Amino acid sequence: MYTPDKARYGKINYRKCGKSGIKLPEISLGLWQNFGDVDDFQKSREIILYAFDSGITHFDLANNYEPPFGSAERNFGRILHNDLSDYRDELIISTKAGYNMWEGPYGNGSSRKYLLSSLDQSLKRMHLDYVDIFYSHRYDPETPIEETMGALDTAVRSGKALYAGISNYPVEKAREAAAILKSLGTPCLIHQPKYSMLWREPENGLIDFLGDEGIGCIAFSPLAQGMLTNKYAAGIPQGSRAARDNTTLRFENFPPDTFDKIREYATEAEKRGISLAQLAISWVLRDARITSVLVGASSVAQLKENIEALNHPY
Ligand code: NDP
Repeated sequence: MYTPDKARYGKINYRKCGKSGIKLPEISLGLWQNFGDVDDFQKSREIILYAFDSGITHFDLANNYEPPFGSAERNFGRILHNDLSDYRDELIISTKAGYNMWEGPYGNGSSRKYLLSSLDQSLKRMHLDYVDIFYSHRYDPETPIEETMGALDTAVRSGKALYAGISNYPVEKAREAAAILKSLGTPCLIHQPKYSMLWREPENGLIDFLGDEGIGCIAFSPLAQGMLTNKYAAGIPQGSRAARDNTTLRFENFPPDTFDKIREYATEAEKRGISLAQLAISWVLRDARITSVLVGASSVAQLKENIEALNHPY
């Protein structure tokens, strides 16, 4: 029987998500990797319960979190059901649809058909009546943006999601999406872009737009999938993300000066007496318009180190 730490809400700060009434923890936990069927279920469970004990109330999923697609939602649903069912009202659970999920013309993209059927599937996998945030995972140039936003509005009006979000939308599309959602009466709660010391694209107008509009911003891959830690300084260690089959972390996708930058940041972290991961997290949080930093973790020790970053503001 799991009993949560009674002191959990004194351990972490919560930031207001834009101008909404929702607050998110400064660190949220993402289940993209490390929570699939290929991973050790007990280890995944320990990470999630450690997060909750630390005051992390927000868990981020998507239909195709993996491997295989859907398994992170299924495993999370099991943990929710077995350990956290009494705490549903203390949790912000998000899911998304937009990338490849099932075969045929309706299992990818941002059509109304795909988004709403995928949301139904996600709810079944997690044994939930509703998710807190339902995201359009990406802008899809093949679908009118009105159709995608209409699907988010329907998801909220049907009670299957409490809030609507968008992810990976470039600033001009985020602007259009937010305007349509506002006109439908379902404001855009949050945007989820990639943002880290190694990927600063959101500084080209997106963060300004979100701040001005009062839309929250949760930054994904703040550690650049592990690059902003010391783990790859001397090659690719066994068991690391870069060593996985079909890895999503390929060094050749980063500019050639990446490792020079990482060494520079590592030196700065050392001067401050913190780890590179902690520097990278506190750096993202230096901007008050960032609501939360969405980290991944393959062990409790990593999550613990990452949460400790909150004691060392940038
Ligand atoms: P991070 O940049 O935080 O990378 C997480 C990985 O870095 C871990 O799995 C681990 O890799 C390594 N790591 C984490 N902490 C430490 C540490 N202290 N020391 C050493 N290594 C560490 O984030 P992710 O790329 O995992 O993304 C986080 C979340 O963001 C996802 O789970 C998902 O919810 C969301 N996301 C959203 C996307 C979108 O399109 N909206 C796209 C991608 C992510 P290792 O396995 O090597 O130990």
